[in-house]
Amino acid sequence: MKRIGVLTSGGDNPGLNPCIRAVVRMGLHLGLEVMGIRRGYAGLVDGEMDTMDARSVGGIIGHGGTILGTARCPEFREVKGRREALRTLNRFGIDGLVVIGGNGSLAGAQALWEMDFPTIGVPSTIDNDVNGTDISVGVDTALNTILDAIDKIKDTASSHNRAFLIETMGRNSGYLALASGIAGGAEMVLCPEVDTQFEAVTDMIDKAYVLGKSHCIIVVAEGWKPGAQALIDHLRERKDTLGFSVRVTHLGHVQRGGSPSAFDRILATRLGAAAVQHLLDGKAGHIVGWVQSKTQLITLEEAISFHKAYSQDLWELAEIMAK
Ligand code: ADP
Repeated sequence: MKRIGVLTSGGDNPGLNPCIRAVVRMGLHLGLEVMGIRRGYAGLVDGEMDTMDARSVGGIIGHGGTILGTARCPEFREVKGRREALRTLNRFGIDGLVVIGGNGSLAGAQALWEMDFPTIGVPSTIDNDVNGTDISVGVDTALNTILDAIDKIKDTASSHNRAFLIETMGRNSGYLALASGIAGGAEMVLCPEVDTQFEAVTDMIDKAYVLGKSHCIIVVAEGWKPGAQALIDHLRERKDTLGFSVRVTHLGHVQRGGSPSAFDRILATRLGAAAVQHLLDGKAGHIVGWVQSKTQLITLEEAISFHKAYSQDLWELAEIMAK
């Protein structure tokens, strides 16, 4: 293997740049040429890429976003698009590929691997729903961003005796909501994985008021049904019977940005570097995950076979702590 490519694909997160940097620098260290492919699979289909050197990734370890850009590429879901991608890879003389992204991007990596192209993945998504790895790149920074918001909202909530709904991202995964709820001392967490009725929420708000709490924080995952907006409408109808007045904050895309945390920088560096080493060692067809504080290979097939859910004991702990 002489020349490898690296791309970031799908939803962005704050750990992508340290991961690109690790791939490039480990690649150069091992005597490889590294091509940075722009806009995920779209750049692979269209042939948009540049040679990377050590300086092209200088100073990015502390920056959110991705210097390569990211995109969603519907063409790549079709065989025709993937054949174009293979043509591009051949045209540029690339003989191995590192894909940094979430479940969708890793499904794309598996599709390329099934076409016999040596491809390896690094799990990177704020949703923390990639199967086989304890954590994905970007999760920790997103969690810290949410936590910062919860702490600030708690200050104002306590001052005014308010209940706050705080909506977090995570698509169909409740991990971010649950973990930030625990770390932020929330009174309740609403996750897509658990069916929680409006009545349970109003009962809890009422109970928190009667217990003498000065605030009531409810973290709502964006994937929870029937959704934060429907809940706020319901709570407004019940406003005369609730002790707290209720406000809502949608955190939105701030969760995807910002300087990567120390944990994410180190995780991204370890996984990105190991991905190149394993690719060179003939271990394509895998992701490099993080299991019990060590890098671990998991087949791409297993990684994408289902979306990982949070562990039940974390959920139980959140309930016990919210007294
Ligand atoms: P994420 O990686 O954040 O989960 P997406 O689900 O949007 O993001 O996937 C990113 C891109 O990966 C898609 O736009 C598409 O190009 C590619 N992709 C997703 N699923 C597949 C699939 N089953 N086969 C081939 N490519 C896929």
